[in-house]
Amino acid sequence: MTPVPIQNEENPFEAMLFRFDLAAERLGLDPGLYQILKVPDREITVSIPVQMDDGSLKVFTGYRVQHSIVRGPGKGGVRFALSVNLDEVRALAAWMTWKCAVVNVPFGGAKGGVVCDPAKLSMSELERLTRRYTAMIMDLIGPDRDVPAPDMNTNPRIMAWMMDTYSMHMRHAVFPIVTGKPLPLGGSHGRIQATGYGVGLTTREALYRQGLDAKACTAAVQGCGNVGSVAAESLSHLGIKIVAISDYQGGIYDPKGLDMTRVRAHLHNNHGLLEGLDEGERITNEELIELDVDVLVPAATENVITSQNAGKVKAKVIVEGANGPTTANADTILEEKGVFVVPDILANAGGVTVSYFEWVQNRLGFYWDKRDVNSRLEKIMVTSFQEVCGMADRHDVTPRIAAYMLAVERVAEVHRLRGIYA
Ligand code: GLU
Repeated sequence: MTPVPIQNEENPFEAMLFRFDLAAERLGLDPGLYQILKVPDREITVSIPVQMDDGSLKVFTGYRVQHSIVRGPGKGGVRFALSVNLDEVRALAAWMTWKCAVVNVPFGGAKGGVVCDPAKLSMSELERLTRRYTAMIMDLIGPDRDVPAPDMNTNPRIMAWMMDTYSMHMRHAVFPIVTGKPLPLGGSHGRIQATGYGVGLTTREALYRQGLDAKACTAAVQGCGNVGSVAAESLSHLGIKIVAISDYQGGIYDPKGLDMTRVRAHLHNNHGLLEGLDEGERITNEELIELDVDVLVPAATENVITSQNAGKVKAKVIVEGANGPTTANADTILEEKGVFVVPDILANAGGVTVSYFEWVQNRLGFYWDKRDVNSRLEKIMVTSFQEVCGMADRHDVTPRIAAYMLAVERVAEVHRLRGIYA
């Protein structure tokens, strides 16, 4: 494979398209279907007026993009961040289409976002923003149409407000309108841990495939939010020594292994931040990526492994907890170095898989215990991992391109069967 590097390396939509193009070419995808899947089905931009606590009015920009709803309702989180932009939301929506298809859950792909800094909003401002955003995307969402969930800087509290706002308009409680809800509102056991746990499961499978003994491996985890912290815990349970972990400000590193019980307790008592923890030496997030470890888990944000630093990565296995942590230009460098990359659309699919379980439980009105949830999740993650590796072996492509091929083929198949409504 000799991919031409993309110009705007850090544009996530271009990064997504680049991999999609490679997969489509390998599959010999019909040109008509290629055109359909290349662009989002539907996108909406909303201007969200919010009354601030001091009485002033502020207008925030929000988006909801549905990339594809051919396999089922759109599915995907809502992120609140200053960096949110339409191309990012488009990429994230498409990644949801591919992710749901890789794990074969009956959803399409969607994503939402609001340009804001939630740390600068009071609880009541955040609530008004969430409710008004929900009301403004109401034409698009619905339990059978498009089901939002948490993503960066959003959480079960925010999902509860979204569920309540939608339900007030519908005049009855509509639980399956969002996933990632608090347990008393129809949330699922294991949903909060699901993404990180799934990262642990795919790491286990990747090490096994590469003939590496987990107990002899070290790992660095970038991010200690919902995904990174649980991923680090899952990796420790496998016997992997965690030597570094970071938050958005930077990380800590101890080649002898961090005391993860202490790290966890500190994060728990310190709003998920490492600041003030006297453990290991301080390193930057850039240094963490280049550490001499066996396993690297980027579980924070996009574009952290680029053409600039991919050559310096020493890990043998990368497991992408975040969406889009590796740029398309970095893919080629990692492939040449023989790094085994478990791509985001497989590695972090545990979250949406348990979101699917939550949606199913809401619709059935019958709830499962944590053991049920986790054993079903394990089965799906392991099967999907094997299917992706099977595709990679058959076509002699990287696991990333294999995951795209598996996903694109599944989505294309449904399009072929349904036909085009004229
Ligand atoms: N935001 C998560 C993701 O990127 C979860 C989406 C969902 O559960 O719908 O996969």
